[in-house]
Amino acid sequence: MRPVRVRFAPSPTGALHIGGVRTALYNFLLARKHGGTMILRIEDTDQARYVPGAEEYIIESLRWAGIQIDEGVGAGGTFAPYRQSERKQIYQQCVRQLIEDGHAYYAFDSEAELEAMRERLKNAGENQQHYNSATRMSMKNSLSLPAVEVQTRLLSEDPYVVRLKVEPGIDIHLHDLIRGEVVVNSSQIDDKVLMKSDGMPTYHLANVVDDYMMKISHVIRGEEWLPSAPLHVLLYRYFGWEKEMPAFAHLPLLLKPDGNGKLSKRDADRMGFPIFPINWKDPASGELVKGYRESGYLPEALINFLALLGWNPGTTQELFTIDELIQSFTLERINKAGARFDIQKAQWFNQQYLRALPDERLRSFLQESLTQHGLSADTQTTTKVVRVMRDRVTFPQDFWEQGRFFFLAPDQYDDQIVSKKWNEESVRGLKEISRALKATGPVAMDEIKATVDKALSGLGIKPGAVLPVLRLCMTGGSAGPDLMTTIEILGAAEAGSRIDRAIERLSIKTH
Ligand code: GLU
Repeated sequence: MRPVRVRFAPSPTGALHIGGVRTALYNFLLARKHGGTMILRIEDTDQARYVPGAEEYIIESLRWAGIQIDEGVGAGGTFAPYRQSERKQIYQQCVRQLIEDGHAYYAFDSEAELEAMRERLKNAGENQQHYNSATRMSMKNSLSLPAVEVQTRLLSEDPYVVRLKVEPGIDIHLHDLIRGEVVVNSSQIDDKVLMKSDGMPTYHLANVVDDYMMKISHVIRGEEWLPSAPLHVLLYRYFGWEKEMPAFAHLPLLLKPDGNGKLSKRDADRMGFPIFPINWKDPASGELVKGYRESGYLPEALINFLALLGWNPGTTQELFTIDELIQSFTLERINKAGARFDIQKAQWFNQQYLRALPDERLRSFLQESLTQHGLSADTQTTTKVVRVMRDRVTFPQDFWEQGRFFFLAPDQYDDQIVSKKWNEESVRGLKEISRALKATGPVAMDEIKATVDKALSGLGIKPGAVLPVLRLCMTGGSAGPDLMTTIEILGAAEAGSRIDRAIERLSIKTH
């Protein structure tokens, strides 16, 4: 096998869609698996769609996701420059070669003339209105016009484009590593513009030239590019590069959660999950769109999730370290069918990765939230808190969101529990528990439990009548980690005073 050289080739037209991160990941996995090279090429030839800051955003997103770039923009390399806007001369030279070899030609048609051609074909009942072998001779180009006129037009800097001269009636075969055999007849392909009137290449030309020049072995990209692939094959042929043509692998689409169509930013917004890896501030509108990073996703979890979104390991294993992914990854196991994007699955992965982190890391998440809220706590307490919360959280910020009662006495009490369980008997029980906790000061969970049990049995009150309101006094709610452990972390004295506080605030209910 030739050395594996793969590229991720985004256009800096905005933030990177999560599907783009998956494309980058699959390229990266293949590169690492075969000791190959992962290249970042920036396809910025469409100046009208260029968005400042997008390139930096892409680089930062890949860095955060742990997708390392070996060569290309930001990393350098033998085939520099890797930004297409800096490779204009290379494309111009290649286009000249195609023209000389009779595979491309100059075209001078104005927008109005092109429109008139399309109208004419439409009126004649043609369902394809192509600029191709059937129509090119009736248009204004270097094939139809006299040579002298062509020369004059070129010299007088008449605006022109360069078009590919597609030979009709040829079956173009393409073997896609995921889709299998694809055959398209060249009559279906129009004489695509290769070079625009501003002297910039189109995507097709630049893409093929660069893949060839950068010795790319595999083109792994989204399914939306599959229809362009036969044209690319034709370009390789006309350039005489067919032997060096990369292998193609077109990745399945990412579908909406219900499987109904392509996943878009609008769907993600509507369903309340991120579509971009990291925060994106649109320079035009100033709109800030929250990314996976800022929402609390761990990069390892997101990568694991994305890896399985369109690829299957052939086993039921779901959790993969990056090294395991590299080991197991093969292009052959990429599915043909579109992959439904299930955000709950992404959250599940996040949970798994979060709970597997050492206490230290988890404590630092909690510590950060405490500092933000102007609070502090000793290491012993934060360690205990993260230990009881670790199996309950999905995101790092949940330690605070769901565990703030460990640090702040509740201000509000769940109405439902109050109306159902707050009564004379339960308050009597609470008062006794508070007294006993303060008097005996139990420390460990089982001592606390014994104290509570004893207080209640002394009064002949069933635990079921009091424990829900005891929890209410501690947390303000009805859910949370084990109650006795919660009290242990709060300390008996604090627990006692939380009971007193709740009784005082809710006393109105007992009268
Ligand atoms: N610049 C194209 C994009 O933005 C790259 C497609 C390809 O990988 O060939 O998706």
